[in-house]
Amino acid sequence: MNKRATRDWQELDSQHYLHPFTDFRALAAEGSRIITRAEGVYLYDSEGRQILDGMSGLWCVNIGYGRNELADVAARQMRELPFYNSFFKSAHPPAIELSRQLAELTPPQFKRVFYTNSGSEANDTIVRMARRYWDLMDQPKRSVIISRINAYHGSTMAGASLGGMSAMHAQGGLPIPDIVHIEQPYWYENGIDVSPAEYGLRAARRLREKIEELGSERVAAFIGEPIQGAGGVIIPPDTYWPEIQRICREYGILLIADEVICGFGRTGRWFGCEHFGFEPDFMTIAKGLTSGYQPLGGVMVSDRVADVLIEKGGDFNHGFTWSGHPVACAVAIENLAIMRRERLVERVQEDIGPYLQRRWRELADHPLVGEVRGVGLIGALELVAHKGSKTLFRNRGDTGLICRDHCFANGLVMRATRDTMIIAPPLVITKEQVDELIEKARRCLDLTAADIGVG
Ligand SMILES: *Cc1c(COP(=O)(O)O)cnc(C)c1O
Repeated sequence: MNKRATRDWQELDSQHYLHPFTDFRALAAEGSRIITRAEGVYLYDSEGRQILDGMSGLWCVNIGYGRNELADVAARQMRELPFYNSFFKSAHPPAIELSRQLAELTPPQFKRVFYTNSGSEANDTIVRMARRYWDLMDQPKRSVIISRINAYHGSTMAGASLGGMSAMHAQGGLPIPDIVHIEQPYWYENGIDVSPAEYGLRAARRLREKIEELGSERVAAFIGEPIQGAGGVIIPPDTYWPEIQRICREYGILLIADEVICGFGRTGRWFGCEHFGFEPDFMTIAKGLTSGYQPLGGVMVSDRVADVLIEKGGDFNHGFTWSGHPVACAVAIENLAIMRRERLVERVQEDIGPYLQRRWRELADHPLVGEVRGVGLIGALELVAHKGSKTLFRNRGDTGLICRDHCFANGLVMRATRDTMIIAPPLVITKEQVDELIEKARRCLDLTAADIGVG
């Protein structure tokens, strides 16, 4: 890309580019940060500053930046077959080969995948497929999908409706009909009066209450992220998912795991459902599938559903021009090959995950930190106003933003969800880089505490 001064980029940016999830006017006043290149776990901005990317881009660059293997594969595929569709009885080797590999990699109930370009589109696809399934099962009244408050399932009409973010529902007439939300399994906020194990059961039983309230003959499916990511890295107690699965089976409703963040190694298993020990009927995949080198999402469809769609379904009237795009699929295949070759998932499970978690928990002694939690290479710090009494801040979110800005200024990307600070670094991060991350995080907590007069 041609070179311009940072100020020129910022000026052009504010004139022409509407960013996602952004207050356009506030950003124009402040000027955006221009990222120009990246290598390994580091970003570089237009001023040449190095920034440790504690968020893997947006939870996706699992194999790290600057992997030439992926660039080579993409170039080769573009020369050979840059595009063909799969609509009219056609297919191409990259999509077929990736499908075979995903069938092998995912839990045994999955043999088939439907491709999309994103996690949002994959969740839209699931809404249609789940309702179609129940139509074909002669139970057309089963149209309600139960999700959770503060869930994130994307930004399309169905994705944002499945999500439980009130700020998103407030814009554009959401949620769409027949999507409802129950409590999220957030022990620190909702359950601190009881043990995590007891709270996990209590939170799961909200599902039963909702099913009984609606009438089970109306409920199609339950959807959840194994660990809620954008909602604040909410890690449910171990008792939660097995109880959710039991309730779903009791009422015969479909169980959907949105694995867009947890999938592809984040927890130290290939998929989050394997970490928590449950067997979903659908899995949403995206982000880590290509490590972000190409846009690609998909729906893993279990045999329970696929068999009915195939046997009785006829045409499934749904799909995208780029469904199974050959370049994206070729890049995904190479990404998975690298993950296997470098044993990145095992590394998260046995080596770098435990190391990060041990060092991350050292931050628990900081006066601003009320709780530290994490699994594998995902973690959160709950910032509080009064450590002893675990009192949350009155103006929720302000402190998180102060801390996030200190992080950027000090060469670290750490995200804030309200006053919860979040990390999800690339799976290739080294121990020295983890040390750097912890040291920078502590310094930024100190700066934040000084700003707001805590500690
Ligand atoms: C990011 C995300 C999505 C949406 O994916 P997009 O590719 O941004 O549409 C869906 N679910 C979860 C859990 C996510 O984190």
